[in-house]
Amino acid sequence: MPSSAPVIIIGAGPVGLCLALALAKADIKVTIVETLKEENFLEQVPRAGTNHASTLELYDSIGLYERLEPRGIIAPKFHYWERKGWQRIAEFDHSVLKNDTRFPYALQCERIKIVEEGLKLARTKPNIDVRLGTTFESFEHNASGVKATVVNEAGERETIAGSYLVSAEGARSIVRKDLDIEFEGFTETERTLNIEVSYEFRDHGFAERNYISDPVQWSNLFHWKGPADRWRVHFPTKPHETEEAILAEDNLHRLLRDYLDYKTGYIIRGSNLYTVHQRVAKKFRVGRCILVGDSAHINSPIGAMGLNSGVHDAFNLAGKLTAIFRGEADESVLDRYERQRRHVALSHTQADTMQNKRRLAEQDPAVRKKNQDDLRRTSEDPVAARKFLLRTSLLDGLREAEAIA
Ligand SMILES: Cc1cc2nc3c(=O)[nH]c(=O)nc-3n(C[C@H](O)[C@H](O)[C@H](O)COP(=O)(O)OP(=O)(O)OC[C@H]3O[C@@H](n4cnc5c(N)ncnc54)[C@H](O)[C@@H]3O)c2cc1C
Repeated sequence: MPSSAPVIIIGAGPVGLCLALALAKADIKVTIVETLKEENFLEQVPRAGTNHASTLELYDSIGLYERLEPRGIIAPKFHYWERKGWQRIAEFDHSVLKNDTRFPYALQCERIKIVEEGLKLARTKPNIDVRLGTTFESFEHNASGVKATVVNEAGERETIAGSYLVSAEGARSIVRKDLDIEFEGFTETERTLNIEVSYEFRDHGFAERNYISDPVQWSNLFHWKGPADRWRVHFPTKPHETEEAILAEDNLHRLLRDYLDYKTGYIIRGSNLYTVHQRVAKKFRVGRCILVGDSAHINSPIGAMGLNSGVHDAFNLAGKLTAIFRGEADESVLDRYERQRRHVALSHTQADTMQNKRRLAEQDPAVRKKNQDDLRRTSEDPVAARKFLLRTSLLDGLREAEAIA
């Protein structure tokens, strides 16, 4: 049984907060350290927002789902489209999962709302010490505990002692770098442009989530609830284009006007450019230091898997730490955490997001046609559609991980 020192979690992103809430539910003390301050915590880019059925079940287990549902959009269906001529290729309906999950839909609810609600909930738990405005700098670890050095809200350097150190710091994890853990994979040369736009896309037959294939300008189109009801439109960019040229207002208008051939009636709410990485850490655990979420794996957002699989890491790890704290397991269960979640990161998250990208951007007309025929057939056959949706909702990934010893 480890000491009663808290589990130290670095990062109050969705993954760190879910881990804190799951540990608190098991009566384990947590200190969560977040560099953002009270006054700028909600000034983050909204980012991820499609929460799959598997993740909704986990949110529900810590009382988070009921806070998120009113702030999001329930999306039972999603579409694949061919951009040329705007033909709808396939419609997938999550209702075929009604016997597999209590949540036969995705919830469109952005990361910013998840962390806002997660933080409020964490503050109601006496065994979670939330330290905003506190920047983690370095750490020491040995067989009996960990020490994290932080710069606290008052600007003073402070050492926090803990039982375990969990890096939920996101992709730039200091813990991963200081432990010399390789972040294997690659970074795409083309950046993705995201334009936030208010427009009634549903009048054109779109679902709340749409994947649009085109050999030149594939796209994703997702709906979000307000303030200011808006859609997120993704476009690829060319490696030689400058950020200034891509984000120039004229360019955004040109891209949108070409998109649906509409001329007016839309309002641009914002835009940003992001780089896509496909990387998985070689190890998820060294001694008492453990990686979760983007600190352990990052991937393209096509398919909405990064946040979801990170939240799955958090719950898997919470179960293992709870067993250790209760004396029901020894630390070797943390190696099982690594085996299970690294397998999912490689064989599901990485594999599926790369396949999604290939499917949208496929250049060969014959392969495009075959992909589209396959998708159409799958969507029209309830047995095949259920199998497909079990995988895209990450329910399969959770079950497969459970079977790994
Ligand atoms: C444009 C875009 C769209 C996306 N869409 C989706 C989607 O639809 N579905 C999906 O599943 N995923 C999506 N993703 C991925 C998703 O946003 C991430 O996978 C998810 O946010 C990871 O959560 P996390 O908690 O691991 O890390 P983060 O969300 O990155 O949070 C890390 C936290 O740690 C804090 N921190 C960092 N360093 C320190 C430090 N030294 N000290 C203290 N605190 C620190 C940060 O301030 C931050 O609050 C998208 C990503 C992008 C870029």
